[in-house]
This record gives sequence, structure tokens and C-alpha cells, in this order.
Amino acid sequence: KNYEEFRIHGKQMVDYICDYVKNMDQKTVAPITVEPGFLAPQLAKEVPELPESFQEILGDFEKKIMPGVMHWNHPNFFAYFGAGNAYPSVLGDMLSSGIAAIGFSWASCPALTELETIMLDWYAKALDLPDFFLSKSSNSKSLGGGSIQSSASDAIFACMCSARARAIKKLKGDNLEIHDSVYLPQLVCYASSEAHSSVEKAAKMNLVKLRVIEPDSHDSMRGDALERAIERDIARGLTPFFVVATLGTTSQVAFDNLVEIGVVCKKYPSLWFHVDGAYGGNSFLVPEMRRFKAGMEYVDSFEVNPNKLMMTAFDCTCMWVKNVLTFTEAFAVDPLYLQHQHDTSVVDLRHFGTPLSRRFRSLKLYFMFRMYGLKGLQGYIRRVITMGKHFEKLVKTDERFEIRNDVILGLVCFRLLHPDAINQEFLARMNASGKIHLTPAKVKGKYVIRFVANQENCNEAQIDGAWKTIQQFADELVGEIKP
Ligand code: PLP
Repeated sequence: KNYEEFRIHGKQMVDYICDYVKNMDQKTVAPITVEPGFLAPQLAKEVPELPESFQEILGDFEKKIMPGVMHWNHPNFFAYFGAGNAYPSVLGDMLSSGIAAIGFSWASCPALTELETIMLDWYAKALDLPDFFLSKSSNSKSLGGGSIQSSASDAIFACMCSARARAIKKLKGDNLEIHDSVYLPQLVCYASSEAHSSVEKAAKMNLVKLRVIEPDSHDSMRGDALERAIERDIARGLTPFFVVATLGTTSQVAFDNLVEIGVVCKKYPSLWFHVDGAYGGNSFLVPEMRRFKAGMEYVDSFEVNPNKLMMTAFDCTCMWVKNVLTFTEAFAVDPLYLQHQHDTSVVDLRHFGTPLSRRFRSLKLYFMFRMYGLKGLQGYIRRVITMGKHFEKLVKTDERFEIRNDVILGLVCFRLLHPDAINQEFLARMNASGKIHLTPAKVKGKYVIRFVANQENCNEAQIDGAWKTIQQFADELVGEIKP
């Protein structure tokens, strides 16, 4: 291995990334010139027989591959939820790849297990989560702890899987000869119609029924609607086992009522209460958002994506569970090659989900937390809230538009006061131009356009510029509509 070469190319790569980020605004935000299949004709058909030069490879990347890249951190990218690329997290990723330690057990890389546990404790404290989510090293009475998952979908799947195992064990009692699958038809989980599609996917993968609960007029799932559904299922002889509430729904950043849902979950002790805070959960960094945290004391598991709302590079889903034994009991497999002398005193991270191997992902958080400090991270969350409000104010000045959500964080759902088909055309034209990039959603039965102010340096001038672009497209389209 020639690390002197890496020293040179590594520095060139950092320069390339910095130039990319610095000059991104010169590019169109979306890859509007490419069509499916654009890349294969431009690249070799096979792995090259002989090594090629770094300059040539990077040159081809810039010329052939970059034109197909969507620029998620472009100043005119307001789609989905954001994807962080704060450089401390990129440095953490780089270090993780360079060290290349794999941390499935404490013994396979002690520092990896320990740093991940400590970073999850740091973040739990910064978000003011209940003490029971802390690891033993921060709270000696705790049975809880956390791990980093690849995605919120993975976390939701893993938690549902553990809950399913717990529910089946209870139903089975002493009938150990009965196969677990016999109980699947009676298991039911619950989530709002506004919950992310990963909940439906997790239910499909776990072979259990999903009961969809209609939220209230603010698109918040409430306890009474949940309880009615649970009671109906119990009367049918079914077994409710898992509830998912959301903090910051994907379509419109609505918040479910954790207190009411938690009280219901407590009433039916076999229910596992999971909270999906993929986007909104990160906002508890600032005390003024913690009004949505009430009820967290009832929760069995929780996950947030710092890559969605804390500037951190993907992948980085922080997942906490109240009782790690529910995971180790559900998933533990223990071949000789994974055993080690401390495996009864430390929780190996491999028990938290499907993967065995894991990278040193906590390094991203380690650099983020220390290089921003809590104050820096809070400043970012507050800027996102302010920019969301700023865009909301701008939309309200133009009577051709309406806003369809309660603007709480960086997402504003807006639409022209015209039928859905016109709004669809409106969005299609904006996105096709490459001047701005936005995505749609359905909110209260209407097609809306989602505007997400999310970037690290988002500011009023950037939002004003985007609004001007949106208005220009509206002028053109509305002008074409016959009265
Ligand atoms: N939950 C919510 C509320 C989301 O908005 C999303 C994705 O946008 C997810 C879960 C899934 O996240 P991931 O892409 O990390 O699986």
C-alpha cells in the first residue's frame, strides 16, 4: 500500500470536495440533462485490466458522473428533508474508513463500542431524553442504551422485530413446541396515516397487520382514536403489540401526541411504544421545542436522524431503547468466533439489528459535537426554525397561494389556490428548469409543494431568492390559465 500517494491524493480530494461545495451554486441544482441509462455508454464495460491514474479517474468523475448528481446542499435545494454534509462529520467518516475497524463486539474494537455508547449518551442528554435511555456508564440503574443504525427504517424494523419476539414469547408461554409463526396472524401494530412508509414496510417484513389510525385536524395522532382501534382488535381476538408515533411527519412535520398515546400504551402492558423522531426529534436540542417531548417517559424506543436535521453526513441514525435485554433476547446468536471474555459485562452492538459488521460511525458525532458545541448545534436548529417562519411569511404575502401545514420547523407546505393538476404542473415546471428543486406531498387530501429550509448556512437572502423564483413560475403559469 502506498500511503505517500494517499497523502497527495487525499489532499487533492479534500480540495475537490471544498471546491465542489464552494462553487455548487454555479451548477443547476438538479441533473436536468440526464436520462435513465446516461452513464453506462460513457464508462468502460469492465474493470480496467491495468491501474489508471488518480487524475484521470477524478477527471472522468467530474466530466461523466457529476452531471448526474443531484446537489442536495445547493442553495436552491429545498426538497425531501436535508442531507447534512458538515465537514466535521465528513472528517469522521474519513477517519472511520481509514482506520477500517469493524465493531460488532467490544473485543473486535473496544473503542468503537465505547465511543458509540458515549456519543449516544451525549446526544440523549443534549436532547433531554429520559435517563432510562442512557447506558450503564451514565446511569448505573439503567437497562437501556443506544446504537447507531444505518437508517430510521432499519431502526423501526429492528424495534418492531424485537417487539414481535417479545409478544410471541408472551403468547407462547410454556408451549415451546408451537412454532412462532402460528402467532403472526394475531399480531397488530398501529401508526397514523401520516406515519412514514418505513412503518408499513416494517410491518410487511415482520408479517404483521398494520392498523392505520386517522389523526386529528392538525394531523396529530391522538390517544382516543388509538385506543378505539386497540379495543376493536382485542374484541376480535387479536393482539396489539406495537405502536409508532411520529415527531415531525414526512409530509408536513406534524407531531403526534405522545402523552395521550403513552397513557394508552401503559394501559395495555404488552404494547411496545416506539417514537420515530427521524427529523423532528433532533429539534429537542433547543428547549423551546421540548413541548413536543412530553410523554417521552412512556416510550420503549426512539430514533432520530442527525443526517436529516443536525447537518451530519449520512448514515447516522441514533436509536435508543429502554431495555436492551429485549434486543439481546430477540436477536442474540453466539457462535464461538464472536465470543469474548467481556461479553457478559458489555452489550455488543451487533445485538441491535441485522448487521454484524459496523463502521466507526460515532466518529462523525464525536467531531460534530466537539467542533460545534451544543451552542453551535442549537444555533443551527434555531436558524432552521427562523427560515421556515420567514418563508411562511413570504407565502402569506401573496394571495395566489395558501399554506397547508402548521409551520413548526423548517418545512412549509404551500400550494397555488388552483386544482391539484395545476399545482402538479407548477412543480414539474420549476423542477424541470433546474433553478430550484422541491418535492410534493398530500396534505389533508390536497397536493402540496414542500419547501424545506435545512442547510447549514440558510439565510433570508437565500430564501428570498427562492421565493422570487417560485413567484416568477407562478406568474407564468397563472397567466396561462383561462379565467
Ligand atoms: N421517518 C420519517 C418521519 C421520515 O421522514 C423518514 C424519511 O424521510 C424516515 C422515517 C425514513 O428514514 P430513513 O431514510 O433514514 O430510513
